[in-house]
Amino acid sequence: MSCPMLRSLCRSTLKSVLLKTHHCKQFVKLRSSLGSARFVTTDESDKPDVQKRIPRAGHFRSAWDVMKEEFEGMKTMKPPGTVVPRETDVLIIGGGVVGSSVAYWLKHEDPAGSNVTVIERDPVYTRASSMLSWEGINFRSSIPENVQLSLYTSDFLRDIKQHLNVLHEASPDVQFNHQGYLLLAEEKDAERLAEDVVMQQDLGARVVLLTKRQLTERYPWMDFEGIECGSLGLEGEGWLDPWSYLRALKQKNISLGVKYVHGELTGFELVEIETDGPVKFKLDAGVTRTPDGREHETKFCLAINCAGPWAADVAEMARVGTGEGDLAVPLPVEPRKRYAFVNHLPSGPKLDCPLVKDPSGLFFHREGFGGHYVCGLDPVSEVDEPVIANFEVDFGFYDEKVLPKLTKRVPEFSKSNLKTAWAGYKDHNIVDQSPVIGPHPYLRNFLFANGLEGQGLQYSAGIGRALMEYILDNGYKVAKLDRFHFDRFLVDDPEQEQLTG
Ligand SMILES: Cc1cc2nc3c(=O)[nH]c(=O)nc-3n(C[C@H](O)[C@H](O)[C@H](O)COP(=O)(O)OP(=O)(O)OC[C@H]3O[C@@H](n4cnc5c(N)ncnc54)[C@H](O)[C@@H]3O)c2cc1C
Repeated sequence: MSCPMLRSLCRSTLKSVLLKTHHCKQFVKLRSSLGSARFVTTDESDKPDVQKRIPRAGHFRSAWDVMKEEFEGMKTMKPPGTVVPRETDVLIIGGGVVGSSVAYWLKHEDPAGSNVTVIERDPVYTRASSMLSWEGINFRSSIPENVQLSLYTSDFLRDIKQHLNVLHEASPDVQFNHQGYLLLAEEKDAERLAEDVVMQQDLGARVVLLTKRQLTERYPWMDFEGIECGSLGLEGEGWLDPWSYLRALKQKNISLGVKYVHGELTGFELVEIETDGPVKFKLDAGVTRTPDGREHETKFCLAINCAGPWAADVAEMARVGTGEGDLAVPLPVEPRKRYAFVNHLPSGPKLDCPLVKDPSGLFFHREGFGGHYVCGLDPVSEVDEPVIANFEVDFGFYDEKVLPKLTKRVPEFSKSNLKTAWAGYKDHNIVDQSPVIGPHPYLRNFLFANGLEGQGLQYSAGIGRALMEYILDNGYKVAKLDRFHFDRFLVDDPEQEQLTG
């Protein structure tokens, strides 16, 4: 390896690799100390600007390689999604709203330049949180970055037809109900709520603070006992149909050339990076098991963990939490079970009903126009947390925990009938309940988009855009997400306190 720039390429992080290689004007074959091969073209003169920013793996793929891959699928009449590419630039694990959003933004920004592959073991999303959520979008966080991510997603959803339209296909319609989100607060939390509203307004959210009297006038069908005030979104908040959103993202991605692979990521291969100091590793390839039981290796430049509630398992495959030193610290994300109950109340508040979040953790919103309501409970104490073991619904949870709170807030709900219910996992960050986004401090070509709690849907477009900016533009623009980096679990960060809550 004669070029000093290339020696540094092996040593440095992925981002610095991208910057430095631009200065070398030749095709170069790289070989890491463990023998994995990469081809990098770096001639500035014959590349459009956008290509210079792209992380590339397997860049030097001949047309034959590409055709062969496609023909292999055709020859064996394999259904779409079962051909696993041998190389890709970006490997995304998990094709829910977050993974698909990241894929969309990478491909949108650089349609011709980078290969993006999404590995998804459950292509009909029977267990994905994206499909099992309470469907809400709001800007009501105390953390400015969260508000920015939600604002961005809301704007994205408003303009979804421009973003996700596909020629010859019906325009996407995510049935966004802009009915607003009403967050209620007790006296002890009133000051914090008022401060949050000011911060949210400063960031551009159309949110107002309502006193108890104003609440009572506006929503006479609700009982505001124990409530001091509430904040209400006047624009851009509400709920939507997550399946239509995910389907639109996926359809657009496929039209842009993103490869969705039906398979389960079962492991990563690591390679040693040449350094002057202690031995270092980076991720080199992912191993995917397809439904026929075969395992396939895909070399990549960058892997992004979008595995939702299963993110810690995927992180472990990369030795995060099982290695030594910095790798001994696990990704602190666990599944937490949440139920969604649908009840019927023909005499209910109907159109008047925003998405309501109560201090008790109770939540409800109107579903359609036929008198149906979706409700659930985010337990405020660990004691009330449902057991995670399976996706079964505990109807006793509704009778004992949800219905009493619901009828206390809206007495009319005592006449409602429970119609159906489902359970899903949210991805809970056990350390500070905030997102984990961005690179691992040691495995720099491994990025996270995890720990999104009950807000992943509303952050999804913002996260996709932000990670694209981080990867391709060398820095965040839509929201500065550095505080969400994994580093905070390794150092005693005074900022961490501010992330909690
Ligand atoms: C009941 C409930 C209510 C919620 N309400 C809201 C709400 O109102 N608003 C809001 O914004 N958010 C809400 N959320 C949270 C939100 O749904 C999630 O944060 C969001 O959907 C996360 O999206 P994701 O793409 O990261 O994860 P997921 O949708 O779970 O997708 C992860 C995907 O990764 C795949 N995967 C995992 N491991 C592997 C592997 N090894 N190989 C291949 N594939 C793998 C899984 O099959 C899955 O499809 C709620 C969640 C629940 C459970």
